[in-house]
Amino acid sequence: MKTIGLIGGMSWESTIGYYRKINQGVKNTLGGLHSAKILLHSVDFAPIEQLQRSGNWAGAAEILVDAAKSLESAGADFVLICTNTMHKVAPEIEENLSIPLLHIADATGEELVKDGIRKVGLLGTAFTMEQSFYKDRLSEKYGLEVVVPGEQDRKRVHDIIYHELCLGNINAVSRDEYIHIVHELELAGVDAVILGCTEIGMLISQEHAGIPLYDTTAIHAAKAVEWAIP
Ligand code: GLU
Repeated sequence: MKTIGLIGGMSWESTIGYYRKINQGVKNTLGGLHSAKILLHSVDFAPIEQLQRSGNWAGAAEILVDAAKSLESAGADFVLICTNTMHKVAPEIEENLSIPLLHIADATGEELVKDGIRKVGLLGTAFTMEQSFYKDRLSEKYGLEVVVPGEQDRKRVHDIIYHELCLGNINAVSRDEYIHIVHELELAGVDAVILGCTEIGMLISQEHAGIPLYDTTAIHAAKAVEWAIP
């Protein structure tokens, strides 16, 4: 079994989900007392969030490159960034590593293509929904048509992530808002919706939607298990 390197803490609430899901996946595959070989480098999220907000992605990249290199030198065979948003700096991380990075948009894109999805809604932070680093990868590499909510809904989705979910606050009113936004995407004709932020699965799950939801935390974790136990 290979050793999985996790760059976590963004937020730590969702990193817990990664730890649990990867270990459950290894247990399901190998049985008994088997568990995952994991190295975790968990960062302090507050300064990262400030760097995101001020648009200082180079500063954020520096912190994550250091984290990734520490995982490589500690013996990780490959690395995951446990957040969609910070894949904005995936190229800088890849440039500085000699082990592979398991990209969350690739794990998700492969899954969508396998299931025959063509047109997909995307929920995530404003960075993920509005910038090109994530959407373009899905459309250029996987031929997906990506639809995001309207401006007001994007703002609500983003604010709920940073003001509630990353702090571990699960709010029924916010859940209803997300359910409504998913429904709006369904009315816009998408075949499925990507939960493109690693905390959204804490708020909504398949039972809340009439169309398939693709939870990036679960997909990324499952792909890590596949890579670890080929
Ligand atoms: N975990 C979130 C994501 O998947 C948001 C927090 C962050 O900015 O990294 O995008």
